[in-house]
Amino acid sequence: MVAELASQDHIRALPKVELHVHVEGAARPTTLASLAKNNEVQLPVADPSDLYVYEGLEDFIAVYELVCRCLVRSEDFERVTYESLELANLAGVRYREMFFSPTFALRRGVAFQTIWQGLTAGVNEARKDFGIECKLIMDIDKPSGADSAQELIGMALTCDREVLVGIGGDAGEFGIDLGAFAEPFNFARQSGFKTTMHLSEEGPVSDIAVGVRELGIERIDHGFHLLDDEDLTREVVERQIPVTACPTSNVEIGLLDSLSEHPVPSMREHGVLVSINSDNAEMFRIDLADEFVRVQDAFGYGLDDLEDLSIAAVESSWLDEVSKKKMQRDFIAQFQKLRSEMDVHARVFDSLPEN
Ligand SMILES: [Zn+2]
Repeated sequence: MVAELASQDHIRALPKVELHVHVEGAARPTTLASLAKNNEVQLPVADPSDLYVYEGLEDFIAVYELVCRCLVRSEDFERVTYESLELANLAGVRYREMFFSPTFALRRGVAFQTIWQGLTAGVNEARKDFGIECKLIMDIDKPSGADSAQELIGMALTCDREVLVGIGGDAGEFGIDLGAFAEPFNFARQSGFKTTMHLSEEGPVSDIAVGVRELGIERIDHGFHLLDDEDLTREVVERQIPVTACPTSNVEIGLLDSLSEHPVPSMREHGVLVSINSDNAEMFRIDLADEFVRVQDAFGYGLDDLEDLSIAAVESSWLDEVSKKKMQRDFIAQFQKLRSEMDVHARVFDSLPEN
């Protein structure tokens, strides 16, 4: 059967959850230019949007660090947080779990409280103005090592736990002793945080095995090469460990020539709980609605698939089970309403328990 395609307007209006997006990568080029000026950071290009072109992960991280240098004052963090949620709201995102990476700013002498106050102010303002809910995940910088991770998790303990829900890990993937993070990540979970990690973006599938089996992480960010290991794939499916895929991001940093080669369709066929995410929305000149449109085109998907991906993202989130079920019921009601408004036939969804 040919998949029923959704219009761009329909896709934009679909309620969505986003679980893999970095606040620092979601700054508008115009905002970046203004922050660079305020904080006396020299950008190497006249038009900041010219910065957002990369030749690989290392090149991308160099640009990312430059963006981070423009974030100095509490109001800078507040502005990028608020604006990224304003854009997310326009893409249909209702709930987001968003990364922030304090290492770059801390290294330059910015106080942790300055960062945290700005982020939470942005989250609270966006909730008030747009009704969007956002939780934060503190990303440790893997190349800085396990001691630095332990130190950051210590800082995380001082944060409002209603907002800071998890610990992640990102940045370079080569020459990292991943096993060394077992202790800090265990400590994080004992302290009540959820844990995730960027694994096998450029690095091999064995990184995912270490993350899942030795570090005990509860979600996999990227997991691009997961299907290279059949046993591990089976384990990830059986344990329903979610994978947050970022197809456009993977093309932008050169892992793939085109989106149609991305393993998301194959992951879904294997039963992997996978969601679609923008990773660094503005730095890749997309939002989550654009990403859904691209995924529909590249994978031959239809509206049913996009709705299923949205429901999978709710399931992959760190909301409690009652809140997840409520959000899934709300989403399904909105899917049906949108179908009726867009003159698309209604769909029969599997019924969800009442609570
Ligand atoms: Zn990422």
